[in-house]
Amino acid sequence: MEIISRKEALEQGLNRYFTGISCSHGHAYYRYTSNGACVLCTIRDSHRNQQKESYKEKARDRAKRSQKATPRDKKNAIWRKCYSTNTEYRARKAAASARRKQKYREDYAKLSPHEKLEVDILYEEAYLIGYHVDHIIPTSAGGKHEPSNLQIVSPEYNMRKGAKLFNYKERQV
Ligand SMILES: [Zn+2]
Repeated sequence: MEIISRKEALEQGLNRYFTGISCSHGHAYYRYTSNGACVLCTIRDSHRNQQKESYKEKARDRAKRSQKATPRDKKNAIWRKCYSTNTEYRARKAAASARRKQKYREDYAKLSPHEKLEVDILYEEAYLIGYHVDHIIPTSAGGKHEPSNLQIVSPEYNMRKGAKLFNYKERQV
């Protein structure tokens, strides 16, 4: 990252600048020219504000529910058995996953070094707080694997969204 003062960034009309000095949370990363705030801290804070309940609290609820839900356990066991014996289905899933990863790699290769770093850091941040990185517009629906189409979401959100899209597709048939 090129070192540039906030004043210079303002003069050049850049929305971000990097002084080489880490923020109080140790991010040696860009700050917003408008307010001098660390980009990573801002991403994380805005995300945390969106989440009313803490992730840990939800995880505890989930654990409690899953202990009660024996019918679901049975269903999962049937599903696992079916999955392990259905090689054709598994191969199809693996191929779809490989295609998705290939698309991510292709999109990523086209990004600028700055954007690549932003993607890397988003994934790192999500990993650190136990969240997922979600494509706002799914890549299957033409969304790109690029910073502007990525957001950090809770695992629950990701599953809900996945289910919603699935239902949406079902309705379209
Ligand atoms: Zn920071």
